[in-house]
Amino acid sequence: MCPRAFRQKAKVTWIMRGPWFLRYVLDEEGGQLCRQLGESQGVEFITSDEVQKFTRNNGRFVAETVNGRKVDFDLLTYGVGLDYYTEPVRKEVEIKSGIVTDAKLRTSAADAYAAGDIAVFYDLMVERHNQMGTWDNAEAHGRVAARNMAGADEDFFDVPTYTTTMFGSTLAVMGVTPDVQPDLESVRTFSFEEKFYRKLFFKDDRLVGAIMIGPPKGRKKLIEIMRSRRKIERPKQELLDPANLKD
Ligand SMILES: Cc1cc2nc3c(=O)[nH]c(=O)nc-3n(C[C@H](O)[C@H](O)[C@H](O)COP(=O)(O)OP(=O)(O)OC[C@H]3O[C@@H](n4cnc5c(N)ncnc54)[C@H](O)[C@@H]3O)c2cc1C
Repeated sequence: MCPRAFRQKAKVTWIMRGPWFLRYVLDEEGGQLCRQLGESQGVEFITSDEVQKFTRNNGRFVAETVNGRKVDFDLLTYGVGLDYYTEPVRKEVEIKSGIVTDAKLRTSAADAYAAGDIAVFYDLMVERHNQMGTWDNAEAHGRVAARNMAGADEDFFDVPTYTTTMFGSTLAVMGVTPDVQPDLESVRTFSFEEKFYRKLFFKDDRLVGAIMIGPPKGRKKLIEIMRSRRKIERPKQELLDPANLKD
């Protein structure tokens, strides 16, 4: 069943530890808009709380939270986080949270490469080691690692992107965001009525990251500007308007 059809039939409660969804990436207004989108589709949010106990009551299940809320449920979906499977190579290559590589995705062992979620790669975009967990990144890594294994000498350089549909809207995160690099300069626009939010991040007058909620118009152009690493000469606010992001 598609998520929308499921939500129309089932009562959905979302319990999260943080004060809003994606709290390390979104600011308060971005989080508030996500909540508004969910609530408009009947989702109940319980924030700044977490489940401490599951019990049974008359054949149904009950989740009890630290703050004393009780939620009846028939079906539970639980985000447990990630544990990277590095055991088979722990002795052979340098490991941090995953397998450490340079910008060419080479590990510390000769002729051994790492790509995708497992790779803690030197990211030329943020100029430090980074680890991603997205389809786009895994695919792009795979291509570079494969070419280098076949004899090329390519650096991996890409604008990280994450896109997901969410409560009839779209959330797109691109490039560097404050969870990776705090103290970035930013400009922002949002409208709760129009269900629209955009925030752009700059470093040394270069566009380095963006968050978009709502129609992702101009997304490609923003990625192109980030990839070019060119200095932004025009007022930065202008880049918030999709009308200014045509090819
Ligand atoms: C619930 C969920 C939702 C997600 N939603 C999104 C989303 O909306 N957008 C997005 O961009 N990303 C999303 N992701 C993340 C995305 O799925 C991953 O970033 C991507 O799949 C990583 O690709 P990978 O090739 O690095 O690793 P994987 O896809 O994990 O592939 C690793 C493969 O290696 C195999 N393997 C492991 N050990 C061995 C072994 N010893 N021998 C042989 N094979 C082995 C595994 O079985 C697996 O098939 C989501 C992930 C999850 C779990």
